[in-house]
Amino acid sequence: MKVRSDDCPACGTRMRERRGRLELPVNGEKIAVPDASHLRCPKCGERILRFDEARHLRESALEIYRRRHALLTADEIRSMRERLGLSQASLARLLRLGGNTISRWESGRNVQSGAMDVLLRLIRDMPGSLDYLRGIMA
Ligand SMILES: [Zn+2]
Repeated sequence: MKVRSDDCPACGTRMRERRGRLELPVNGEKIAVPDASHLRCPKCGERILRFDEARHLRESALEIYRRRHALLTADEIRSMRERLGLSQASLARLLRLGGNTISRWESGRNVQSGAMDVLLRLIRDMPGSLDYLRGIMA
């Protein structure tokens, strides 16, 4: 039996195109995307996202999270970092983050948490905060 890509992997029924609410975790928070296109099995309810749909769902969830917490944008993070003369790696070290974290924020592949956003704003707006962070570096 040939399995088509749009057959349900659970029960084999032909799946249907749907748009509807899907949830995705962002920084540990459940984000609901109201109008996400996906395939849904009419028999068992299984949901499948194709590659582009999964990417679009993730981008939408990140944008909803960013707006909900009024976060700095990717461009704002990059410009504040460059203005302070920091590399992505050195900013990551100061904030005790993984080496690629800043790069993921600046490219829009991920977003900072609300707490990290507050720290970024402090570094950007409070003179002396960068020196303070350097002073407490391990
Ligand atoms: Zn099914």
